[in-house]
Amino acid sequence: MKKYDVAVLGATGMVGQRFIEGLVDHPFFNLTALAASERSAGKRYEDCAKWYIEGEMPEEVRDVKVVKVDPEEVQADIVFSALPNPIAVDAEPAFAEAGSIVCSNASSYRMTEDVPLLIPEVNPEHLDLIDVQREKRGWEGAIITNPNCSSTMFVLPLKPVYEKFGIENMFVATLQAVSGAGYSGVPSMAILDNVIPYIPKEEHKDETESLKMLGRFDGEKIIPADFTISAVCHRVPTLDGHLESCFVKTREEATIEEIKAAMRDFTALPQELKLPTAPVPPVIVREEENRPQTRLDRDAGNGMAVTVGRVREDPILSFKFTCLGHNTIRGAAGASILNAEMLVKTRGL
Ligand code: NAP
Repeated sequence: MKKYDVAVLGATGMVGQRFIEGLVDHPFFNLTALAASERSAGKRYEDCAKWYIEGEMPEEVRDVKVVKVDPEEVQADIVFSALPNPIAVDAEPAFAEAGSIVCSNASSYRMTEDVPLLIPEVNPEHLDLIDVQREKRGWEGAIITNPNCSSTMFVLPLKPVYEKFGIENMFVATLQAVSGAGYSGVPSMAILDNVIPYIPKEEHKDETESLKMLGRFDGEKIIPADFTISAVCHRVPTLDGHLESCFVKTREEATIEEIKAAMRDFTALPQELKLPTAPVPPVIVREEENRPQTRLDRDAGNGMAVTVGRVREDPILSFKFTCLGHNTIRGAAGASILNAEMLVKTRGL
């Protein structure tokens, strides 16, 4: 298979490092450029990036000269964006206009009408929105986004439930790790011995992005799923892994065994196509009363699987459960890499 040249924008940050981890030695992609702010540009990667994640900085990137986030300096078929939103707003369209496919983690364009917001197991058909985007904007490239890190964890296990039984409404309460805010996002003095019941804009993202992903592509636009989500989001003192409690009312009656079977048996196009980053299975259903746990389960499926547990009846709605996934892998870089794998395998560029 032809290998595509790829670059990482925001390569020195938390998510940028996860991209590097996932792209070094990737069977579809050659990592050819690393870009970051002007503070880092011109330096060797090893000299400007503090390696935050477990394991050593890969040899392949240590000597690479970091460049500015500028299409003149970065030529690649695909650019993976781990840029802060205010920078992504201008940079991502500039790369798409210059002909690159932008696989973005930023929230800037997730809810834009002609931009796919993708979980490849959930809504692969939304990728065809790229044709609408290109036609409208006259781009050879395109922007594809992945969702915020907390909605991914509940949308993935709820997809088969939504398909089989429908959903009338749901509540979700999240317990989100500090890495979700970036390396310098939450000061240690603010979060140690503490829980913060507020993450800026996160509840709104859970309540809207999820419905776009579960929505229907009519050939022109996405019609969002027709139910209501109420979310509350907390920052907790874990490093990686978002754990979430969900309470769901289904449209049709379903037993707990039927709900569990729907989640456990769920498999989708990325698994069928054997995409390199696709976890098998995408959703792991555990029976122990005390699982999932953040430290024990966040790395399941190389950080790409969502682990579900405590699926049981709810006395107010239909059922409730707990889910967990790795926020900087399945919730960020890994999600974007899977989006790119899906794109090249199903459409080319
Ligand atoms: P981060 O650790 O703060 O890293 C930010 C990156 O952007 C660094 O490489 C930084 O380069 C670069 N950057 C900062 N200012 C820049 C500028 N003016 N011009 C060009 N580059 C600039 O952030 P992160 O946690 O990796 O998050 C990156 C993006 O992913 C954000 O949009 C975030 O919302 C999103 N996201 C994060 C998560 C998560 O779990 N962390 C999940 C989903 C989505 P320097 O080192 O040179 O400053």
